[in-house]
Amino acid sequence: MRIDEEEARIDAGTRSEGDSGARPTEEEARQAIRTLLAYIGDEPDREGLRETPARVIRAMKEHYAGYEQEPETYLSKVFEEVAGYDELVLVSDIEIMSHCEHHMVPFVGKAHVAYIPNGRVVGLSKIARVVDVFAKRLQVQEKLTAQIAKAIDEVLKPQGVAVVIQAQHFCMCYRGVKKPESWTTTSKLLGAFMDEASTRMELLTLMGLPRALGSGR
Ligand SMILES: [Zn+2]
Repeated sequence: MRIDEEEARIDAGTRSEGDSGARPTEEEARQAIRTLLAYIGDEPDREGLRETPARVIRAMKEHYAGYEQEPETYLSKVFEEVAGYDELVLVSDIEIMSHCEHHMVPFVGKAHVAYIPNGRVVGLSKIARVVDVFAKRLQVQEKLTAQIAKAIDEVLKPQGVAVVIQAQHFCMCYRGVKKPESWTTTSKLLGAFMDEASTRMELLTLMGLPRALGSGR
């Protein structure tokens, strides 16, 4: 699009104030879904599909809610009165449902997040929130893993952060190479988890413990 055309578009109010790029309106987004329905060979106007564009946009708002959120919102409320607790905190098996940025199809799995506080501890549910902030965007698993670790590292400034994600990618399961049983594991270790073998061992031991009450005991 040429610059004068772009300016005309802004003047016409087809883009909301404060957006850095040309963000389409919701109506334009629905039209795009209609176009895709026609493109795959279906009829967007038939009964069963009439409400589909609106439903798809609603679902997308949910799947990509992370674009409207920042991790600091959840990490800035810290508890400093934790009686000097400065040992490893591990939140495991956080459900992940994200979408790969190459195919826009889901990848699902679990995240395990550990950190060693440095005087500041955050509510456990906030860790799960931070995972969601980044998972609810278009992602690649490696980037997702690193972004979660970096956000916790920057805001809490802990002695160390470790993020491990295990996921199954629909783009690998049901298209392309079609390997439905394959799991991808990624990890990002910072601070003490990177520098100290004993801390890393402790993490692996805790991650390997049976988690459901009664299981394996
Ligand atoms: Zn993909």
